[in-house]
Amino acid sequence: MAKAKRTPMMEQWHDIRSRVAKDTLLFFRLGDFYEIFNEDAIEGSRILGITQTHRHGLPMAGIPYHAANAYIGKILNAGRKVAIVDQVETPKAGKLVKRELTRIITPGTILESQQQDERSSQYILAISMSRQGIHTAWMDLTTGEFVIAQQSLFQAEQLLPIISALEPREVLIPETGIQIRVRGVELENLYSQLEALLANRLTTELPDYQFDPISGQRTVLETLKVLNLEGFGIEHGHPALGPAGALLDYVTDTLCQRPKHISRITEHRSGNVLLVDPATQRNLEIFRGASHTRQGSLIEAMDATVTAAGARQLETLLARPIMDLETIQFRQNVVGVFIEVPSTLFDIQQLLRQVRDIPRILSRLQNRIQNPRELGGVRDTLDRLPEIISALESVNHPLLFNIIERIENFDTLTDILDSALNEELPGAIQDGGAIRAGFDEELDRLRSLTSDNKIWLADLESSEQEATGIKNLKVKYNGAFGYFIEVTKANLTLVPEHYIRKQTMTNAERFTTEGLKTKEKEILNAEERALAREEVIFRDLIADILEDRDALMRTSECIAELDIFCGWAQIAREWNYCKPMVDHSDLLQIKGGRHPVVEQTMRAERLGLAGTHSFVPNDCHLESSDSQIVLITGPNMAGKSTFIRQIGLITLMAQVGAWVPAESCHLGLVDRVFSRVGASDELSRGNSTFMVEMNETANILNNSTSRSLIILDEIGRGTSTYDGLSIAWAVVEYLHGVEEEGPRTLFATHYHELTKLANDLPRMRNFSVAVKEWNDEIIFVRQVVPGAADRSYGIQVARLAGLPNSVIDRAKTLLNALESGDAQIQTESIPKRKNTRSPKAAQNMPENDAKFEKDPTDQLELF
Ligand code: ADP
Repeated sequence: MAKAKRTPMMEQWHDIRSRVAKDTLLFFRLGDFYEIFNEDAIEGSRILGITQTHRHGLPMAGIPYHAANAYIGKILNAGRKVAIVDQVETPKAGKLVKRELTRIITPGTILESQQQDERSSQYILAISMSRQGIHTAWMDLTTGEFVIAQQSLFQAEQLLPIISALEPREVLIPETGIQIRVRGVELENLYSQLEALLANRLTTELPDYQFDPISGQRTVLETLKVLNLEGFGIEHGHPALGPAGALLDYVTDTLCQRPKHISRITEHRSGNVLLVDPATQRNLEIFRGASHTRQGSLIEAMDATVTAAGARQLETLLARPIMDLETIQFRQNVVGVFIEVPSTLFDIQQLLRQVRDIPRILSRLQNRIQNPRELGGVRDTLDRLPEIISALESVNHPLLFNIIERIENFDTLTDILDSALNEELPGAIQDGGAIRAGFDEELDRLRSLTSDNKIWLADLESSEQEATGIKNLKVKYNGAFGYFIEVTKANLTLVPEHYIRKQTMTNAERFTTEGLKTKEKEILNAEERALAREEVIFRDLIADILEDRDALMRTSECIAELDIFCGWAQIAREWNYCKPMVDHSDLLQIKGGRHPVVEQTMRAERLGLAGTHSFVPNDCHLESSDSQIVLITGPNMAGKSTFIRQIGLITLMAQVGAWVPAESCHLGLVDRVFSRVGASDELSRGNSTFMVEMNETANILNNSTSRSLIILDEIGRGTSTYDGLSIAWAVVEYLHGVEEEGPRTLFATHYHELTKLANDLPRMRNFSVAVKEWNDEIIFVRQVVPGAADRSYGIQVARLAGLPNSVIDRAKTLLNALESGDAQIQTESIPKRKNTRSPKAAQNMPENDAKFEKDPTDQLELF
């Protein structure tokens, strides 16, 4: 069958389609719709749940232009990209309108505010490997943050915590992959960790040459418009400039132009940072809780920010807790100042609520997404600055002057924006009405022309009614026909000679006159010119704002920090936190410590009357050179995991400079926090095996220093008891070592045998979580006390969990037999489960009748 001849428009579609990557759906502007054709239409209608039709034999689906944002959001959420093809000239009858690819929107390159998660950063990461090491670059296009980093192959794992905390929306890798072979270097572990990190992320493969450092450097220099990178402290030919170049090329393709707002590149150096490896970030639920959302995470418990930029900055701080005492103490002290002045704190937070997202507004303004409301956002923010400064000054504390100084002066810009912009602003400059009356003489003149003429028009209606005697004569306007006089059919006989027929309707005729024609021209002309004038002023205002771009970015960073500190002060007041003493000692001493997340959750539940208990505070004393390893025993459910995790969280909170949930806390700086939870605890994530557990344990043993904090929960559980016990035993011995000091370690375990190790290891201490026994039942008191637990109470916990009484009794008999060394367990005495239900009875008894299932004795008969 001969192929149907393509129409010129479909030729145009095919031409653009062939230039856009296959994994991208193409939205093709056709009048008021974006149409999707061919395979895109099949995929698109499936994702969007819209009807698919046909045009010229091709599958087709369409979405209204004005609602495109919502649809684009859905496609991005489905992990796909969208290419936008727009009409780039005014359509003319009988002529194919020119269309161009104007933008490719991907999850990592969204600039439109409607689709952004404003409280979260939006990173794209590019990564490559060479013999020199692992090289990465990442960028948040919405703010212009641009960073490179690299590590040698031997220390490559130090980069993983950083990459993990970025939670990149997109990853770019060379098409031949990132794995290389280097003789004599064992990289399997690194690769498996990298793979886990990058799994389920939208990954795009780019040609290898795009990762070349030399051409990458050229691209970076061109984008930043500088001659060399010395000013940024980045050496010539830095290998991470390879991925940096790939990233810029990718972003350029999606924006269909070089990004205009990237003016700085920094190198991440891990020197002064507390490293938290990816497994620990997961185990301690720092950024995501058990439900994989922010709910139940540390960041949620620490976030009382009221601005989007503040929320994002908090993510950054928490991703990189520091080891720099001066900065930690500065932050702690600022929080302390705000705690003392609650009413000022409240005032400042009220002002901050009116501050808009300056970094993202600037990035939109610089990348063609410009509308009057963005300018209004800048104005509203600048208007607040003097008030924020005077609130800070009113506290009159030297520490706050540090912050005040960083808020720069924008008096001129503020005056311009205040006098130029109307209070209420239109969504697009073409809608008119953005610029205030009185700001620009020419604009005022054009507007008055329009309004004088409109008065003339209003008068016209009544004067013509009088002159013609047609009472219901109307002067009207529409987009297609302009101004006209409308006369109903019944009155046509009264129409005077000089009326010129314009259009015939079912019930009426439309006319114009020479006078009306002239006025119409004048009005449309004046309106058009007024709009054009507004647009010129609008562009000038954007230029004025961008002139102050760097100062605006610096000030916005300072305001974001202020927001964080105020939030921390608010939380510290509400939850009665203390200021931790942080120094260079080897201590970690906490009195009355609480788990920040569990404590908040428990109160929320209490308020909902679902539970009645409060969090029980506990103490902790660790010291590298004295009580270095604390082994915690106690029954399941006693509170071991909660306790050891709370120590990890308090440490992180202290090293970002926040106050902590405790009565007092003395922390010697920690260089790395490691946490490992037993395989079975992680099984629910579906990705954990004994092998992974051992990999991570190996990572801890190989990389911890005597400054590190190690949190181990039930390691060795993923294998047989004796294997597991032996591994756990050997790990404790290794961590203790023979030197004078070692990493501060908390080890929760149900292997009682380990408690004996304290006899041989001078720096190990036994602790347990106390329980009370009452009538052969246990009551959890959640108190951590010195000394080992005397037994595991597993059977009592099993009873609490609802195991049938007969099973509990049998287990007790077996336990006694095992403990007394009776190897001859009588198998004949094993109770058998017998179904007493007769087939008849079963018919009346639904299989999953909950009530029936609840009374287990009904179902069991022992014999
Ligand atoms: P384990 O690790 O010993 O099995 P968990 O730490 O998982 O026990 O704690 C069991 C339960 O007890 C959890 O629901 C937790 O919220 C609660 N819990 C733990 N510690 C405390 C505490 N100090 N005060 C109040 N409740 C606690």
